[in-house]
Amino acid sequence: MSDCLFCKFVNGDIKPDTVYEDDDVLAFRDINPQAPTHILVIPKQHISTLNDLQPKDEAVIGKLYLAAKKVADQEGIADAGYRTVINCNEQAGQTVFHIHLHLLGGRTMAWPPG
Ligand code: AMP
Ligand code: ZN
Repeated sequence: MSDCLFCKFVNGDIKPDTVYEDDDVLAFRDINPQAPTHILVIPKQHISTLNDLQPKDEAVIGKLYLAAKKVADQEGIADAGYRTVINCNEQAGQTVFHIHLHLLGGRTMAWPPG
């Protein structure tokens, strides 16, 4: 997707602050962090929203969570705890339409979320 910001991160047109990368997944620091650790984990494949997920994408979503776990460990927040969030569409606050998992940690999280 040529007009997608996160696809530009994947293809190297723009360089994010990358913390993890493998064949299928890229993870980088959020530009507007909402917690001491705020990382976005994205599939390299463009999928706009959770509503667009297909059965063939099953492995991709598994890989997002496996990468999130790895990054949480790398960031030193695994034992204290962290939150993972995927916002879908407007009412959830999705602003970038390439699926991304927010990995938030380094502080106590409130519940319910706002
Ligand atoms: P969402 O609101 O769930 O779609 O999340 C989009 C996230 O992308 C927000 O937390 C933004 O701060 C983050 N973001 C937007 N532009 C950039 C960028 N250039 N680099 C890193 N994070 C970004
Ligand atoms: Zn994209």
